[in-house]
Amino acid sequence: MENIKKERGDLVSLIVPVLNEEESIRPFISAINDKLSSLEAKLEIIFIDDGSTDKTVDVIRELQENDSRVGYVKLARNFGKEAAMTAGFDYARGDAVVPMDVDLQDPPELILEFHRLCLEGYDTVFGLRTSREEDTKGKRASAGMFYRVFNWLSHTEIPHNAGDFRLIDRKVVEALQKMPERNRFMKGMFAWPGFTSIGVEYNRPGRFAGNTKWNAWKLWNFALDGLTGFSTWPLRVWSYIGAVIASISLLYMLFIIFRTIAFGVDWPGYASLMSAILFFGSVQLISTGILGEYLGRLYIESKQRPVYIVEEFSEGSDNG
Ligand code: UDP
Ligand code: MG
Repeated sequence: MENIKKERGDLVSLIVPVLNEEESIRPFISAINDKLSSLEAKLEIIFIDDGSTDKTVDVIRELQENDSRVGYVKLARNFGKEAAMTAGFDYARGDAVVPMDVDLQDPPELILEFHRLCLEGYDTVFGLRTSREEDTKGKRASAGMFYRVFNWLSHTEIPHNAGDFRLIDRKVVEALQKMPERNRFMKGMFAWPGFTSIGVEYNRPGRFAGNTKWNAWKLWNFALDGLTGFSTWPLRVWSYIGAVIASISLLYMLFIIFRTIAFGVDWPGYASLMSAILFFGSVQLISTGILGEYLGRLYIESKQRPVYIVEEFSEGSDNG
């Protein structure tokens, strides 16, 4: 790829969403200083405070006094990590942008490799988790299932076990900014614009401090956001399910009519009647429910509200 080496990557922006991470921010910066001293690019570190109620913002402000690379965007409330990342992309000025977690689950030294591959010509370099040992068996199994279902239902392929941690070129950032949706499933949105990409494997360590903000219910809804955002198949499949059930019902109806004509009225039928009512009732409720999943999201989209609201923005002073 020598011949397509690019003149780019002079400023790399790290965008770091933080929600109640007061004890992680300083260790994060130390790790960056430690591991990225050999990075051949200038750094900009933008924290996006996603409505923290602890001292997160104070810690960032203190840091900023002695570190001109640090800037922050303080959102007016908790908008969720996806919205916070969106704010990060909007405020980052780097030629390449790296969204990463503050809890050191995204090893900073990997950014050297990301950056090198970016200079070689890749527009997206994403981290691939080789082990998910820190996750429970249940979480690993459900994540695996999600990726399979997603890639099966949607035209946008997302790599198994790629998280948000990646380096993307300015042109991918610009593509992301053209995607105005409110339902921001970033894993899908990163993949949607295309461009050349490559994965780099790494072992994802456990959280350095604090607790994960995820629980089973949140993950389930996150999965639904992803599927509804990138596929209309669950919505359209009902015509086919309906057609199959209708054909079977028609055959059964013909059978009953024929039997009645041939053998007379068959009085007992409570069990079959009840099963049919319950079965069709449930199928209809499921299909209406799925309609609701889409309609609810459509309603939110139609309001065209902004993805996030900024309360305060403070730029790093080193970026003139
Ligand atoms: N985060 C955020 N807003 C939220 C939830 C999380 O900005 O509503 C941040 C959090 O502070 C962290 C990153 O997103 O820097 C990833 O969160 P977490 O470590 O809880 O997720 P996990 O690594 O378990 O997927
Ligand atoms: Mg984490």
